[in-house]
This record gives sequence, C-alpha cells and structure tokens, in this order.
Amino acid sequence: MTDLRIGNGYDIHALAEGLPLVLGGVKIPHTKGCVAHSDGDVLLHALCDALLGALALGDIGQHFPDTSEAYRGIDSRRLLEQVVAMVHEAGWYVVNADMTLLAQKPKIAPYVVQMRETIAPLLGVGIDCVSVKATTTEKLGPIGREEGISAYAVVLLGR
Ligand code: MG
Repeated sequence: MTDLRIGNGYDIHALAEGLPLVLGGVKIPHTKGCVAHSDGDVLLHALCDALLGALALGDIGQHFPDTSEAYRGIDSRRLLEQVVAMVHEAGWYVVNADMTLLAQKPKIAPYVVQMRETIAPLLGVGIDCVSVKATTTEKLGPIGREEGISAYAVVLLGR
C-alpha cells in the first residue's frame, strides 16, 4: 500500500481598485486586484498551504514572511516551486490537487484551463490531476460585495 498524505489550504485577500489580478498564475483583466505583499495569487497561496499541510511543514507565512523584502511583489509561482521542491526533497510526489476559488467578479470560467495548464507542470503532474473550480457567493458576505477573493485547496501526496 502506498503511503498517502492529505493537506488542505485556505487563503483570502482584499481587493482594491487598480491592482493587477493574478489567480492560479494567470493574469486576469479586471478593474480590481488583490492587496498583498506578493502578487496576491490567493489560489496558489491556498495550494502552497495545502502542500505544506500535507507534510506538517507549517504554513506559507512561516516560510515566506510578508515582512521580508525578498518576497515583495513576488510571482507566487516561484513560491509554489519552492514548496513543491520541499515536497520532493521529503520524498513525496503530488497525486492530485483540487481547488475552489470564491469570487463574485470577474467570471473565472474562461481562465480555468489556463490555470490548470500553469499549475500542473509546477506540481509535476498531468493537467487531469489538477482541478480548479470557481463559485460566487451569491452576492453574500465580503466576497459577494467584491471586497475580496478567497480560495480553498486540497492535495493528496504519495510516496
Ligand atoms: Mg495569501
């Protein structure tokens, strides 16, 4: 029997006018973007936390503190690469990842395939092992009022 580990991750960022919006490594045209020390890619941050969580390696804030100049404006794909390297160094591989974005606007569906194509090689898996789903919150709460975007991620690791 293969050794398996599961991990989950969550992240939320506030939205502000005039900032670039990057989700799942894909730049999405929108009037607002995520307020963050990094590029604010909430989806990749949730994914990083899920990977770290699966191996009880702490969280993204611990590994990439937002007080560090090294991470100011950083492309979150670089953070994901470092986290996946930690997973591989520990002797594990990614089996699959399933993510859900919560955003009232913009429409995420047109970008889902591009996100999966961006994330899959970073995880070292095929696109069929990377799921990105999106939902609104039916205009309820801070996400529904377009004050922020949040994301959940679950990953399975094997060795
Ligand atoms: Mg974050």
